[in-house]
Amino acid sequence: MLGRVLTSLPRIMRLDLAVVTLPDWHPEAHAGRSSPVYGYVIDHPDGAIVVDTGVGEGNELIDQVYEPQLLRLGDALEAVGVDQTSVVAVVNSHLHFDHCGQNPMLYGSEVPYFVQRLEVVEVERDPFYTDAEWALPPLAQRRLLDGDLAIAEGVTALSTPGHTAGHQSVLVESTEQRVIIAAQAVWSSREFVDEEATPSNVDAEERRAAAVDSIRRLKALRPEVVHFSHCAAYRPDEAGE
Ligand SMILES: [Zn+2]
Repeated sequence: MLGRVLTSLPRIMRLDLAVVTLPDWHPEAHAGRSSPVYGYVIDHPDGAIVVDTGVGEGNELIDQVYEPQLLRLGDALEAVGVDQTSVVAVVNSHLHFDHCGQNPMLYGSEVPYFVQRLEVVEVERDPFYTDAEWALPPLAQRRLLDGDLAIAEGVTALSTPGHTAGHQSVLVESTEQRVIIAAQAVWSSREFVDEEATPSNVDAEERRAAAVDSIRRLKALRPEVVHFSHCAAYRPDEAGE
C-alpha cells in the first residue's frame, strides 16, 4: 500500500519529552553534556500517531546514569493540543530506553505499536539493550515489521538500519509535500548532510554501510523537513542543498 497520499500534510509537532545528562563515557558527551530527547506526533485525519515516547520512569539505573528530566507524554501531547485519547497508533523508531520509555501509557488499550521485528529480537537477546518493560507492548498490541509498511494514509514506516539493526524512520507525504521523521538515523543533522555514519551513533562497524545507505535513501525522497530525536530539524532548502 505504499504510495497512497494525502491532499494536504497533517500537522507534525515535536514533543520535548526529556533532557538527559550524558555520562562521561557516552560517545556524544563531548558535544555538550546534556541532550534533548524528542518524540513527534502526527495530527493525522484518522487520529494522532505518536513517533517515539521518550524516557520512562522507575528504572533506577537509568535515573542514576542519565538523570532524566521528564515531561509526561500525556502532558507533552496536551501542550501541542492533542488529547491522549485521540492517539490511534504509536511508532517506535527503535527500542532504546529513550525512544520507548513512555510506551506503557497506552498498554492495555487497543492502540497498535509499530516496530521492526529485529528490535524485539535484540530486546529479548540482550538484557542491557533497553528497559524491556517499557519496550515491549502486550502481544495483542505489537505490530512487528519486516521492512517498510504503510501504516496510515500518507504515513509510511521506512526501514533505516544503522544506529540499530531495526531502526526505522517515518515518511509523511501529501500530494504537495514530504516530511521525514528520521529519529536517530543520525545523531546530528551534520551527519545527515555529510552522509556520515559516525562510530558514536553507529557503534558496530558492520552496520555503518547500512547507516549511510539509510541516510541516502531518506535524502533521495527530497523531504522538505527532516526531524530527528536528538537535534533540531533540518530543512534542505534553507541549507542551500
Ligand atoms: Zn538509540
